[in-house]
Amino acid sequence: MATGQARPTIAIDIDDVLADNAKGFVEFSNQRWGTTLTVDDYDEHWAKLWKVDNEETEIRANQFHESGVLYNYDHNPSAHLALEKLKENYNLIVITSRRTQVKDETTLWVHERFPGIFDDDHIHFAGIWDKISDASIARTKGELCQELGADYIIDDQLKHCVGAAKLGLKALLFGNYLWNQNGSLPENVQRVDDWSGVLRYFSERSGQ
Ligand SMILES: [Mg+2]
Repeated sequence: MATGQARPTIAIDIDDVLADNAKGFVEFSNQRWGTTLTVDDYDEHWAKLWKVDNEETEIRANQFHESGVLYNYDHNPSAHLALEKLKENYNLIVITSRRTQVKDETTLWVHERFPGIFDDDHIHFAGIWDKISDASIARTKGELCQELGADYIIDDQLKHCVGAAKLGLKALLFGNYLWNQNGSLPENVQRVDDWSGVLRYFSERSGQ
């Protein structure tokens, strides 16, 4: 911990950065509710994804969160080596907008899939989606990153990258996903296709 303060901090998202969320989510949805979704259909606004109202979304969201499926999500295997390398020079924290309801299984998953990378108290929940109706008033990821003194954010959602960049962070828009396409990116937001791209980004910075 003593050395953590002196090094820049990178805040890392879980879903579709460390974990194969879209794949796990649509598979669960197809099985449970008979949808025919693919990864490319994924939208973190589940009401839009399912084309159902907020009440039905909340019912399904509760079933999803109580199912334990998150614990079985696949992880991105190339992330571990990259994180080990980054850990040599950076303070690594996890920042997720998963509901605090799944805090225990999420924390366990992170430790099991990425052993030795993240300290216990370095896994943070923004609480954005704790209740569908609260989504607009909850603290943003950018604000949480700022509060935690993060210098960089790695996230697959454009809005979190843009929000964090507005607050002075450098943002890496992770993955070439259908849901994060954008013609041009604002200053301080750079796309990285995968974990090799993340390493390339930081090695270019350290070489400056
Ligand atoms: Mg994500």
